[in-house]
Amino acid sequence: MSVTQGAGLRLPFGLSKGQLVSPAQVERGAACGCTCPACGMDLVAKKGLQRAHHFAHASGTECAHGVETALHLAAKEAIAAAQRLWVPEVTLDVATPTAWVISQGQYVPVDEVVLEQREGDVVPDVAVTSGGRRFFVEIAVTHKVGAAKRERLRAKGMSTLEIALPRHYDVTTLDSVADIVVAGTEHKEWVVNVRRDRVFARVVSTALRLPVVVRGLSQVDDCPKAARRARGKAFAYLVDDCSKCQYRLTATRQEVFCLGRPKIRSYAEWKEWRKVRARINNVRGE
Ligand SMILES: [Zn+2]
Repeated sequence: MSVTQGAGLRLPFGLSKGQLVSPAQVERGAACGCTCPACGMDLVAKKGLQRAHHFAHASGTECAHGVETALHLAAKEAIAAAQRLWVPEVTLDVATPTAWVISQGQYVPVDEVVLEQREGDVVPDVAVTSGGRRFFVEIAVTHKVGAAKRERLRAKGMSTLEIALPRHYDVTTLDSVADIVVAGTEHKEWVVNVRRDRVFARVVSTALRLPVVVRGLSQVDDCPKAARRARGKAFAYLVDDCSKCQYRLTATRQEVFCLGRPKIRSYAEWKEWRKVRARINNVRGE
């Protein structure tokens, strides 16, 4: 994530004697006695009538990371104070009409919160330890986690929750940041979720693997629901049929991963079906 002054965001919080404060909590102007959470330089509290109250660097030049560091610090302190964090449901985005819910949205207990500490090739905004597990929290102000960072996080095996603080949000008080970050149920998204990836791999491993063959158009033979038939044999067109089919889990150029005949519409149904399949395979001695 990056936020620059060019994005038009003003510094919402400053540091006073090591405490993060909003303009409402301090004197106007240089008498505020605050410093920038990012660069450590002196701030003045701008408490005029025209604009929302904010801080500015006394030097007249804003630093590059003041706003984002102030918001990361506010988020970290809010999570640490609450000792819990509401995390959204984890869903598997398969082709069925509704995504499969793996776990519900819920509060998780928070044991430790660490700010902007480099871990290899990633500097998470906030790292949270919850019941022996760790995950990262990215606070998105103007930029969301991009594809490259997503891949680095996935490669590290770190679940990462992105919390968006859109610009129209009132993030001018510490309480409003806490409301959005700790208890908010919207604007939170698992950009990487290790459990989701693991379940998806397991589900895919149980899928039928139907090779893609090119006969003019890409198609798969032996479509389990017989989307089309030619000379008595079932097949499907990759684009016209499979890509719209609720039993397609995923596909590569070479093959379609297909849930096949069982009408599996949820994670619970898939788990049930897997048990049945295991029993059948046992009987067959597979
Ligand atoms: Zn600064």
